[in-house]
Amino acid sequence: MVEIEKIKRDTFEKLGLSENNPGVYNGKWENFSEKDAITVKSPIDGSTLGRVSVASKESYEKTLNSLKKAFAEWSDVPGPKRGMLIKKLSDALSEKKELLGRIVSLEVGKTNVEGQGEIQEMIDVGYYATGLGRQIYGNTIASERPGHVLYEKFLPLGIVGVISAFNFPSAVWSWNSFIAATVGDTVLWKPSSKASLTSVAVMGVIGDVLEKEGVPNIFGLVNGRGGVIGELLAKDQRIPLVSFTGSVKTGRHISSMVSERFGRAILELGGNNCAIVSEKADMNIALKGVGFGAMATAGQRCTSTRRVAVSEKIYEDFRKRLVEAYKKVKIGNPLENGVLVGPLIDSEAVLNYEKAIETAVKQGGKVLAGGKRHSAGNNGYYVEPTIIEAKKDMEITKEETFAPILYLFRYSGLQEAMEIHNGVPQGLSSAMFTTDLREEEIFLSSKGSDCGIANINTSTAGAEIGGAFGGEKDTGGGRESGSDSWKAYTRRITITKNYGNELPLSQGVTFDL
Ligand code: NAD
Repeated sequence: MVEIEKIKRDTFEKLGLSENNPGVYNGKWENFSEKDAITVKSPIDGSTLGRVSVASKESYEKTLNSLKKAFAEWSDVPGPKRGMLIKKLSDALSEKKELLGRIVSLEVGKTNVEGQGEIQEMIDVGYYATGLGRQIYGNTIASERPGHVLYEKFLPLGIVGVISAFNFPSAVWSWNSFIAATVGDTVLWKPSSKASLTSVAVMGVIGDVLEKEGVPNIFGLVNGRGGVIGELLAKDQRIPLVSFTGSVKTGRHISSMVSERFGRAILELGGNNCAIVSEKADMNIALKGVGFGAMATAGQRCTSTRRVAVSEKIYEDFRKRLVEAYKKVKIGNPLENGVLVGPLIDSEAVLNYEKAIETAVKQGGKVLAGGKRHSAGNNGYYVEPTIIEAKKDMEITKEETFAPILYLFRYSGLQEAMEIHNGVPQGLSSAMFTTDLREEEIFLSSKGSDCGIANINTSTAGAEIGGAFGGEKDTGGGRESGSDSWKAYTRRITITKNYGNELPLSQGVTFDL
């Protein structure tokens, strides 16, 4: 039996955390304040891990002003140099990877390997950003006028606001912050109030490097509740870009607040991801891919597999084998070896899980595996990963329930598979398991998956940082991390230079003065 209290004490000591932690960083840590402090509980056993203080209006202002001041200096630093600073952050995170990963596990209930994976993702994005520092490019375009040059540059925006979700409590911050800082921005972070301890631990490591390197304070942290500090940030005219990760409901609200003031938003919202399993699939790969996608992180990934559409030709066999696989999965304390499914984040999540199953059954679904709370831990929020045999018209299958519930559909023909696949409001991740080149190419064409992410013979979950990450439809349309996502953190300036001796006008217009 793994002793949570012992792990906590050891990890806290090595990371400099305490029972009462300041939750605001602006180059210095603000003193801890009792007022409205967040009590952090572990979903593993319900025990209290400590408290984190929240930002007041005054401390929000102070943090914002420090970032504004830092921007003036930081945006003048050459890109390759900025990239090298981010490398140092990744190096420091590597040194503390194990400890930080443990904090993630303690606070949000990820298994040991997934907690470590979360920090690895930050490290990877940091090294990616280091290279990006030398790759911030613009285009030169053929001018229609003689003696003219037409080109574009990508300039830093200013202060970027990041509001993050609980389920990737630190990786999402780095996706945004390391890229934004490399292109010359400074960043204000409002983490989820369900993951404030992780933000303090991460910013502790980051702040130490900034101080040691003598760079301006490019990263600020303001803990607090969404409805208070989150709203303040979303409405703030001084923040030209808000990158929001969270539910569709909150994202819709944020989007309207940001667009009201003509700000920009990167929206990374909920998914309802489907895997298609063709009769031409490699069955072992499909079973593993679907099982991992549906059960990892207890179904609390934006990319979790929530629906699987299986060809009628292999349906019975696949169903039987998937149900068997579910029976073998070890549920419990995520820090224990061999455990694959840890707890949900809180009691509300457990109630949502139960409500969704009840609704699914009322709408005609049949529970094939799981379906109830799990007895692991005394006070933790453990549930059984669940498979529900579903029909196409069941409304509940169109919603994202943030829990390990998988709806199983039977299809006849690729057209029906695509109807099931695309027949939901969200459009984040997707997968097809097949060895048939034709099916695969149709899935990847404009007639195929309507999502931002498509996978062939691998899970809907577990994206790499090198690609652009994000989704379509109700998922919000944002893109983060790799490829050319960095452009979203810049403003494009289109430049025309006349080096000739005349003033020719575009479109053949004349204006003889
Ligand atoms: P959530 O929407 O409840 O909260 C997200 C963030 O918004 C938190 O920091 C919260 O404090 C803040 N917030 C809440 N109300 C606010 C308000 N009125 N104004 C400003 N900020 C406010 O989401 P969650 O439960 O933390 O995370 C789970 C959701 O996030 C799921 O829907 C999941 O699919 C989604 N998600 C999406 C991605 C992606 O990249 N597409 C990644 C991770 C999570």
